[in-house]
Amino acid sequence: MSVLTRIEELRNILNKADYEYYVLDKPTMSDYDYDMLMQELIKLENEYPEYKSDTSPTVKIGGAVLDKFSKVTHQRQMMSLGDIFNLDEVDDFVNKILKVTPNASFCCELKIDGLSVALRYQKGKLVLGATRGNGRVGEDITNNVKTIKSVPLTIPYDGDLEVRGEIFMPKSSLIKLNEERREAGDELFANCRNAAAGSIRQLDSKVVAKRNLDTFIYYYLGNDVTSQSESLNKLRELGFKVNPLFKVCKNSLEIKEYINEVGQMRDSLPYDIDGVVIKVNEIELHDQIGYTVKVPKWAIAYKFKPEEVETKLINVTFQVGRSGVITPVANFSPVFVQGSTISKATLHNEDYLISKDIHEGDTIIIHKAGDVIPEVVKPIIEKRLPNASPIRMIKNCPCCNSPLVRLEGEADYYCVNPNCEERIINSLIHFASKAAYNIENLGEQIVRLFYKEGFLKNISDIFKLHLYEDKLIELPKLGSKSVKNLLINIENSKNNTLDHLIFGLGIPNVGAKVARIICEKFNNIDLILNASYDDIYSINDIGEVIARDFTNFFKDANNIALINELRSLGLRMDYPIIEVKNNTYFSGKKVVLTGTLEHFSRDEAKAKLESLGANVISAVSKKTDLVIAGSEAGSKLTKAQELNITVIDETTFIKYLEE
Ligand code: NAD
Repeated sequence: MSVLTRIEELRNILNKADYEYYVLDKPTMSDYDYDMLMQELIKLENEYPEYKSDTSPTVKIGGAVLDKFSKVTHQRQMMSLGDIFNLDEVDDFVNKILKVTPNASFCCELKIDGLSVALRYQKGKLVLGATRGNGRVGEDITNNVKTIKSVPLTIPYDGDLEVRGEIFMPKSSLIKLNEERREAGDELFANCRNAAAGSIRQLDSKVVAKRNLDTFIYYYLGNDVTSQSESLNKLRELGFKVNPLFKVCKNSLEIKEYINEVGQMRDSLPYDIDGVVIKVNEIELHDQIGYTVKVPKWAIAYKFKPEEVETKLINVTFQVGRSGVITPVANFSPVFVQGSTISKATLHNEDYLISKDIHEGDTIIIHKAGDVIPEVVKPIIEKRLPNASPIRMIKNCPCCNSPLVRLEGEADYYCVNPNCEERIINSLIHFASKAAYNIENLGEQIVRLFYKEGFLKNISDIFKLHLYEDKLIELPKLGSKSVKNLLINIENSKNNTLDHLIFGLGIPNVGAKVARIICEKFNNIDLILNASYDDIYSINDIGEVIARDFTNFFKDANNIALINELRSLGLRMDYPIIEVKNNTYFSGKKVVLTGTLEHFSRDEAKAKLESLGANVISAVSKKTDLVIAGSEAGSKLTKAQELNITVIDETTFIKYLEE
């Protein structure tokens, strides 16, 4: 695999994980795995700076801004934190800081596993509560924040003041909430962080009030303090809840001792933490040490390794995915790990299964990285039952019994029967999913129900459901209102641009981004149907495997028939062309965007520039024609100035756009 392909792959995986974590509050990957993939991407981008990108997950703050809340522009960007995972890296961090600022000391705090919040006070009254969002723009959650008992509605402070901290759900509240949800048949929250994020973003403040959220405040944005530890004391005096377990350390040894102490008390704390935050204590040194676009360089998060727990294996079952891929899953006696009870873990594929060497009835060790996805670490051989047989891959599909196939060079086994029920059901679930055709209310349960009752056999049946409205209303758990809503959602979805349809079809190796890239080039279905392997392969960023799978899919007569049927059912079959204007101020210019723009997101600014003929690039070099610098622009602006490249600010940018 080429470096660029791996970089692209990592970006895709991390972007998807960000969406699931920040937008859906439903991660499908452990934080530890996420962090390890992020480390790999950072390393590759550092080794190959030519592949750096302004939109890479390494430079953007992952949070999302939901439309259901009004947006708030942060007066000062809300940043994330850099991560370290080993005690040796504490030395590296401290040494780097002391090289620049030899007199620095370090304020060490617990890293609370919740979500950050900004609280603005005017003349001592709480006027705004906002999420971090993408760091620049967050969501206005004032009414919800007011329901949290530890947030003071008034403080003894005359001027305007902003403070920042963490909203979290105590462990005991999560257990109680999940018990209630289990009884009500609702999906459980994976951990305290997701429960807090999901709760604070409820539209109904009454629901939030019942969720028993809490806060620890750790940033004071007033000017009358000189150190972080003084800030914490000041916050406490003002009436905020401040975590008392912070400590000012002079050197790396003291920091490491603090980390060890915190690690030992972690399980007994009534709230979840996922590490320790180390901050340069002297505030005047912060600007001198500086910032990257995403994180301050004067602070770092030391993250704890996943906690490990022992349990008993019940059995291994095999799931069939939409592509026919077979995934072994370990089912074990429920164990409580970091805020939630878990009872299964994926074993991925045959190689992984063999590498774990699990035997029937084994006692196994499970871990879950401060987070979500459980993993089998290993069996405890000493506790193995005599004569227990090893668990191995099955040879036939557990759903349709067809022989499974493992392609050369691939780790997975597949059920290749296109009529296998599980495959069909999972393809339908994928098609309707948010990232694909985004048909709200057509989730797994409803798809399974409609399939079982004979209303859904393939994708085109979704768009014929209106013919059976009367019958659907009679199905269990469905009333006329929910059926009506669902049918409206289906009708509205037909306006989705072509890339959603292409992604929804489930073509192997064609993710949402690839679908979009192809549609940008071939922007209606007829062009796509006529595109050859070479046409697809010639698109930037598309490799051989994707080009092969994509063109093979459209060679299959069944797939063409499906497309024709969907067309006749009224689904949109084109993708809007972006018209590029000629002879503008930006035409032909290589432009770099840096810093925070107040009126546009990066993507919006990029799209505008591209529509005016600019080539937007990520790194400043001698070849750059123009740099557009928003607030808090950092090293790119400095480099542009050194190279004498024209720099304009946002106001001038807007002026040129208007011209
Ligand atoms: P982060 O959680 O690693 O660290 C930054 C955050 O720490 C701050 O924004 C703040 O909210 C919080 N924090 C808690 N206590 C603090 C304190 N005392 N002082 C300062 N800040 C404190 O970074 P992030 O950008 O919020 O989230 C990224 C992380 O989220 C990833 O490293 C990963 O672990 C997780 N994540 C997981 C998935 C997944 O699929 N599992 C997806 C996206 C992100």
